[in-house]
Amino acid sequence: MPNYRVLKHYEVDERESLIAQVTAEVANCILHIRLPRQSFIEEVYNGGVVDFRRDEPILGLYHLNHVYVLKGLSDIDLVRVVSHEYRHGWQVQSGEYWDSFKLREYDAGLFSRELASYLGHPSESQIAARLITAYGMRKPISLYVRDLILNKGAWKNGVNKYQFES
Ligand SMILES: [Zn+2]
Repeated sequence: MPNYRVLKHYEVDERESLIAQVTAEVANCILHIRLPRQSFIEEVYNGGVVDFRRDEPILGLYHLNHVYVLKGLSDIDLVRVVSHEYRHGWQVQSGEYWDSFKLREYDAGLFSRELASYLGHPSESQIAARLITAYGMRKPISLYVRDLILNKGAWKNGVNKYQFES
């Protein structure tokens, strides 16, 4: 029975968090829901704080208009899991929350594939750029967010080329 802890803001990787936010916004071009809040979780092994417990390991969870996503996923899995969970949000908010668990999962899986197809079935190395493009067609995106999402890892090394710009 895996145990999970909800991460605090300062424990979350900024790039990961931005990708999840951008994915939510892009998915919401299709879903049109009141956007759930999002948090990252990690599995807890040896005691410590446990926020919830599941029967099976999970990558994400939708609960009470809050989306929880496992920390440390690849870009492509992150986008897949976030879009899947936001579809559960749509199911609840639109009243299409069928009794069948299988049906809800099938529908959420279908939606995450629909989003991948909307993004042009990108590979792992393309998906961040595709998300930025899809997002940018709706709203202007800040240079900071764009570069952080595109330059995987660069910010972790303390390189901040915008520190002298306003
Ligand atoms: Zn699901």
